[in-house]
Amino acid sequence: MVGKLIITTSTDPFTRGLDYLYGVRSLALDAEMIDVVFDMENRKPLCMWIGEHIEAVNAKLENYLQACHDCFHPWEQPAIQIFAAPIAQSFGLDGLCNLQTNPITILIDVGRVIPADWLLLVVHEYAHAHAGSPGHHEKYARSLSHLCLGLGIAPPESIQESQLRFYPDYRPTQNPLAFWRGESAVSY
Ligand SMILES: [Zn+2]
Repeated sequence: MVGKLIITTSTDPFTRGLDYLYGVRSLALDAEMIDVVFDMENRKPLCMWIGEHIEAVNAKLENYLQACHDCFHPWEQPAIQIFAAPIAQSFGLDGLCNLQTNPITILIDVGRVIPADWLLLVVHEYAHAHAGSPGHHEKYARSLSHLCLGLGIAPPESIQESQLRFYPDYRPTQNPLAFWRGESAVSY
């Protein structure tokens, strides 16, 4: 199932990478969130890396998504697709949950969060999908706490929006684009 919705027929890594980026662009809340397609300096190395490695990264995210699903009864599990994507710095987002698409789309900027903490970011976005809201209110807190308990993560101590907005606490990387350029120590 991984990556099936982003169809590319090319075997050339650059073309595959670019097709992928245009695919996730169409799923973002705002197409400008995936602006690297216009970044002539970074576009080539990113597309090459994506073309060769994105399926392995998305398979990992898919596993984390399944771990979140497993915290709920089948009838409580929202239909969700998940993809890794480099999100434009100007938006200041590490991940997003687009409730307007069907299925719901979660995009994770795997370059901005250390790989050991990707699950935590998936959990944060999954809770939005489960609560059916982009806000960080009581319903969101309930979904998030349920996920945390199911996955062995400390649940949030308060339901204050200021805490929930950044919960669970995950560790950022130094240079978001380094991972996407294949310069990270973690190899895929
Ligand atoms: Zn949030």
